[in-house]
Amino acid sequence: MSECIFCKIVKKEIPADIVYENDRVVAFKNINPVAPVHVLIIPKFHIPSLNHLGLEDKTLMGELILVAQKIAREQGVDKSGYRLVLNMGKDAGQTVDHLHLHLIGGEKLPWA
Ligand code: AMP
Ligand code: ZN
Repeated sequence: MSECIFCKIVKKEIPADIVYENDRVVAFKNINPVAPVHVLIIPKFHIPSLNHLGLEDKTLMGELILVAQKIAREQGVDKSGYRLVLNMGKDAGQTVDHLHLHLIGGEKLPWA
């Protein structure tokens, strides 16, 4: 867990461009954006992937989506549109094993 790069961002051990934070969730700009707006929204505690979610996490997952909605508004893409992506596992391209929601927008998005 201490090796997890997103846990290190939560603990402020490595820098990130944080756009939103509360007691449970932190959101920061993707270091390698695929669109003008590309924010990652993560739980503050370590969950490796979608497969590790349980019923006890349903409120947290709802909050991640509501935080995404708020950030979309703040980043000015709520009207133009945006995509939320949650990759699970290697075939989906998950590269960081700490659950995260991608908020992507700011231009017309291709599929994939
Ligand atoms: P995924 O492919 O769904 O696992 O997405 C992981 C994302 O994390 C990638 O889009 C990376 O660009 C992004 N990422 C990795 N390290 C950092 C970091 N230190 N700060 C911000 N974004 C990062
Ligand atoms: Zn972690």
